[in-house]
Amino acid sequence: MKGLLITIDGPSGAGKSTVSQRLAMLLDYNYIDTGALYRAVALAALSKGCAPDDNENLAKICSHLALRFENTSKGQRLYANGDDITERIRTPEITMLASAISAKSVIREYLMDVQREMGRGGGVVFEGRDMGTVVFPEADIKFYLDADPDTRALRRYKELAEKHAGTSLTEVKGAMKKRDEDDSTRTLAPLKPAHDAIRIDSTYLEIEQVIEAMLEHIGAQTK
Ligand code: C5P
Repeated sequence: MKGLLITIDGPSGAGKSTVSQRLAMLLDYNYIDTGALYRAVALAALSKGCAPDDNENLAKICSHLALRFENTSKGQRLYANGDDITERIRTPEITMLASAISAKSVIREYLMDVQREMGRGGGVVFEGRDMGTVVFPEADIKFYLDADPDTRALRRYKELAEKHAGTSLTEVKGAMKKRDEDDSTRTLAPLKPAHDAIRIDSTYLEIEQVIEAMLEHIGAQTK
């Protein structure tokens, strides 16, 4: 049987990444972190000294950028023109730059093709902001994962504190609030649940409970 195309959208810190990866593993599906693709374009722009509003240069950068995920013994890696950029895209600077350039049509159009190509054949869990609304409106199953803002900020803070000493919860909360506002209010593909998405609030749920709920929906849908 052809694998399903499953989308998981939602704001940062809702638990999308962990849940999407585990779900993909349990179903033996591919997992695609589309935020990483936006981060990859941001890194390419930064390393070329391209301003986030320089559409012409951004288009040129995209036309020379080949992005590819690879599953390795060290987990999933992302390559840009053959370079492993998995760690380099996880800095606070790239996080904010990715959000800024994601409002640009030139970037969204380029990544739309990349993502659709990665989804050909099904058997994929896509994690992002507009997977169920714009990129895969015909997806087999759509989830929208959310949690209250304080919980999301605390989760992200704990994650970041392990890597960047000196990060404060207030800073994380402020940056997250700005990014969520920007992502939800932009004209193109704003963050919002698809009309047919199954909404799950993870505020008081353990990861395992979220996955269990998703598997139940998937089971019911495919019966
Ligand atoms: O998910 P992550 O935090 O890595 O995403 C980085 C940024 O990429 C988001 O803040 C958002 O602006 C953008 N993004 C997007 N559409 C997606 C995935 C990510 O606009 N499908």
